[in-house]
Amino acid sequence: MGFAELWDSLLPIGRDPATGGYRRYSFGDADAACRAWFSNRALERSLRLQTDRNGNLWAWWDVPGSTGPAGGSGGPPPRAGAAGGCAGSPPGADTAVVTGSHLDSVPDGGAYDGPLGVVSGFAAIDLLRERGFEPVRPVAVAAFTEEEGGRFGVACLGSRLLTGATDPAAARELRDGDGVTLAEAMAGAGLDAAGIGPDDELLGQVGAHVELHIEQGSALAGLGAAVGVAERIWPHGRWRLDFAGRADHAGTTRLADRRDPMLPYAATVLAARAAAAGGALATIGKVSAVPGAANAISSAVTAWLDARAPDEAVLAAVVGRIEAAARQAAAGHGVGLEVRRESFTPAVEFDPALRDRLAGALAARGIDAPVLPTGAGHDAGVLAARLPTAMLFVRNPTGVSHSPAEHAELADCEAGVAALAAVLQELAGR
Ligand SMILES: [Zn+2]
Repeated sequence: MGFAELWDSLLPIGRDPATGGYRRYSFGDADAACRAWFSNRALERSLRLQTDRNGNLWAWWDVPGSTGPAGGSGGPPPRAGAAGGCAGSPPGADTAVVTGSHLDSVPDGGAYDGPLGVVSGFAAIDLLRERGFEPVRPVAVAAFTEEEGGRFGVACLGSRLLTGATDPAAARELRDGDGVTLAEAMAGAGLDAAGIGPDDELLGQVGAHVELHIEQGSALAGLGAAVGVAERIWPHGRWRLDFAGRADHAGTTRLADRRDPMLPYAATVLAARAAAAGGALATIGKVSAVPGAANAISSAVTAWLDARAPDEAVLAAVVGRIEAAARQAAAGHGVGLEVRRESFTPAVEFDPALRDRLAGALAARGIDAPVLPTGAGHDAGVLAARLPTAMLFVRNPTGVSHSPAEHAELADCEAGVAALAAVLQELAGR
């Protein structure tokens, strides 16, 4: 099946007709439809479907006679030296080459962030089979749960649980905006959260992971290239700021008597912009006010800060400046402030030898693929702690992402599939 047909089969799921944006939140109705879509695409290709203990989906193209995971629990032991990247040295002969990304979205997200990598994975397998390619090691397409943190606030939750980067007990108690815990949400989707957590047996079956993703920037457009290879991911994190003031009447409370948390919050938004110097980025994109009445001073305001920088020292300095400004503003208005780091991802260097192998395989097929850094986090960045990982980017003409306006041209998506097929052939071939 060609890319366009596969793409169109996923496109309507979870799209808000009013905005054209996507609302695919983990374990909700749209997510269930996405999971069913994934299952059907796997089954119609005779790929073995697996839902792992963390709710991540896998479609395995098993290799006859391999000691692969077919048949349940008796997979091969974890590959020695998998951690940290015994670099692009070929993965152990019986370990799989995995591609894929995620199907969940941010609120009102675009169509491509995540799904492009999953759809391209299936399309690349179709292309390889059309060419009669027979892998000598298993190939899998994966879809990781809650990559965006759109429901439970922890980005890359599925891959973090899989690799042991997140504590399962704490994760079970994560709550969405309606107070529903992760455990409850998983139960609602027919999954048992009792089993979440690190899965070394599954990771031991994977020799390399290559995630294809739409570029979340416009560097490729500037370079005139349809696809690129990731160099590294900036360190980034999320911080929650709770400003505690005192609710009061908007019409009768003298200014001098107010303890209005909205004021230090507003100062913090401006401080975030001012602090993001030296090439860093700091954004407050989510806020909630309690009680949220138009004619009342709020009792509390909660804001979420997202910060990213080329290195961890710059990131720490930027967040430190923002926090200092927030504390000063809060104190000036008689407002309490609590700052809590909700998530943090250190800088990720993708496996240099694997990256070179990708670049070599693409160059050998005449595919021009520049190497780029990125400020966006990805499951591949989390998996990089345990496996050799790499990423391919597909050109985004405007660079817009996390928005209904996010777009990639069909020809570029097809170029991405061709590049991914070339990479899978290189890594899983003879
Ligand atoms: Zn993504």
